[in-house]
Amino acid sequence: MRVAGKVALISGGARGIGGAAARLLAREGAAVVIGDLLEDEGRETASQIIDSGGRAMFVAMDVTSEDDWRRAIDAAVSAYGKLDVLVNNAGISGRFIVEETSVELWDRVMAVNAKGVFLGAKLAIPVMRQAGGGSVINISSIYGLVGSDSGASYHASKGAVRIFTKSAAIQYAKDGIRVNSVHPGFVDSPMTESYHEQPEIREARVAATPLGRMGLPEDIASGILYLASDESSFVTGSELVIDGGMTAQ
Ligand code: NAP
Repeated sequence: MRVAGKVALISGGARGIGGAAARLLAREGAAVVIGDLLEDEGRETASQIIDSGGRAMFVAMDVTSEDDWRRAIDAAVSAYGKLDVLVNNAGISGRFIVEETSVELWDRVMAVNAKGVFLGAKLAIPVMRQAGGGSVINISSIYGLVGSDSGASYHASKGAVRIFTKSAAIQYAKDGIRVNSVHPGFVDSPMTESYHEQPEIREARVAATPLGRMGLPEDIASGILYLASDESSFVTGSELVIDGGMTAQ
């Protein structure tokens, strides 16, 4: 029960990495609020948690909407009395090189992956301050640390999350609010399914990963659990890289 008594809001928590984090945090004692565009999958994940004896609820939200964030945070506080943990996890990919990236795609990826993280933090921080502190966990990527031959807007958005995290960490340390980023490597999830199904891409990604396998959503959820728990009470502004060694070379 590593997060017993805590209340966590997880954006994009219906499935993939966010779904795994919701299940793990609930199993370790947190009440979880799943915020996602995907209503059916979000409600199903919440029901599974409740069926296994955990506390969970679903809130439909689009992370690009300030009003939706306000509703989701209000729902968490109404249901469970406070907010201790925000996992800014919702994200979309944008696998186009610079010249092939349309302005519309750039704006959409930046809106979900970067503005969404900013809005979540902006609205959660006052509520966490009232609770005496908290932990904001921003899901960036190894692609927020290094470049690749297959993206432009995605790298920019995840790099923005990395450095936004450090600024927020410094600004709110005095309030007992910790802010950290998580940098997953190549993970099998609904987001990457159609990409990782292609044998040449799968093989190249596994070959580029020293530990020799794809990551699982649960690998990333374990890092999220650590940052959500008081075990990480001296950790803020840091980058937790969970990538099988991909960026160590
Ligand atoms: P996923 O399976 O697609 O899950 C992301 C969830 O976020 C989906 O349920 C998605 O719903 C939701 N979402 C997207 N846009 C949203 C919005 N505007 N408002 C609310 N919810 C929204 O992806 P994942 O692989 O678990 O990724 C989770 C996070 O990890 C993302 O930030 C991703 O960039 C990051 N990451 C993933 C990998 C990887 O290899 N999988 C590697 C590095 C970093 P829709 O399906 O409707 O879009």
